[in-house]
Amino acid sequence: MFARLIVALASAAAAVGLMVFAGQPAAAAEPVTIPAAPAYEAPVLYGSSLDSYRWEPSKKFTVWHDPWASTYRIALQLKSGTSWKTVGSKAPGKQGKTTLGYKMAKEGTVHMRIAATEGGRTLASSPAQKVTWKRDRSDIHHRYSNYTKPFAEAEGKVAAGDQARHGVYVWTGRSARIGALQMHKNGQWVTVQKLVWKKKSSGTPPLAIAKTPKTQSNVTRKYRIVVNASAYEKGWTSKTGTVRHENPRSYTGYRKLSYDYMKKYCPNQIITVKKGGSASTAHSGSLRIEMAPGYQGSQHKAIALHECAHIITFRLYGNGLEAMDSRLNKIFKSSNGVEMVADCMAYRMGADPKAAVNWYTQDCKGSRGTAAKNILAGKKP
Ligand SMILES: [Zn+2]
Repeated sequence: MFARLIVALASAAAAVGLMVFAGQPAAAAEPVTIPAAPAYEAPVLYGSSLDSYRWEPSKKFTVWHDPWASTYRIALQLKSGTSWKTVGSKAPGKQGKTTLGYKMAKEGTVHMRIAATEGGRTLASSPAQKVTWKRDRSDIHHRYSNYTKPFAEAEGKVAAGDQARHGVYVWTGRSARIGALQMHKNGQWVTVQKLVWKKKSSGTPPLAIAKTPKTQSNVTRKYRIVVNASAYEKGWTSKTGTVRHENPRSYTGYRKLSYDYMKKYCPNQIITVKKGGSASTAHSGSLRIEMAPGYQGSQHKAIALHECAHIITFRLYGNGLEAMDSRLNKIFKSSNGVEMVADCMAYRMGADPKAAVNWYTQDCKGSRGTAAKNILAGKKP
């Protein structure tokens, strides 16, 4: 059979026998097939194609040859130093096509060739071809694209026993992925939560939510999120996020006064104090209250309760803040329903309507009062 085997380089002009094409297919392209070599006497092998993508460690080759039975085998050989080692071989397929596979053990480029072997001897071979396995980058997005550090949404602070959250989407079109939330402790990163992204081939990629451990003490911690490497994609590590776990029960001074006014209704409330100004703010994302400095007595109490009312409302509606706005605007027949209901809730919680505060409304009758009462009871009006 050896006499019938003609080996040639993979150029069209010289394609009179074995022709190998081992180029990598482009992403999402069909495997490239090489047209049969021009007829020439009785060629045995016509060509081959590499049918795997760069990011796949398992490489598949298709070899075309004459369909009739032979005593030789079709082999896949790997260059090792200066010699060639057979890593797989098969008797030629009856339909004139033989498939062979090789799984690369590590990323990189190796040299491979197709050969005809008989009794352990290589009768003929194709030119050497470079074969590469290179993992792609993981395709990862943060739940909120403007918050790229873990727990940035919490604006650096989490109340005792509460959990800050950070969502990460991971594309899993090729395989499921696993990862972890890690906390820095004693000089190393320790896993505190395992994260899983199931395989999903279309639509929005799966989302996993990392949650900070429930912590009672006042302590500052660093966190990061990791996605483990898969066979096809490299691993990923987020930026490091710093979180202050803070127990409002240990507040002192002005923060303690603010907390004491609202604690019956907002018992675990993160409060910070602005450097100046007179307007206080309740943040819907982080659920933090920023108090302006310098309030006194009934004014301080009224504003603390108004901001606390916002937090109660934000918690009740979660991610449905648009629905919250439209519902409250309808009830209050105003474009400021969320502020008006906070006033009505503050009065119910004990704020003095006569306090020195720029109230949004003093009218809390009828459906307005019912809305305030319902939100305080944890019911959407
Ligand atoms: Zn307000």
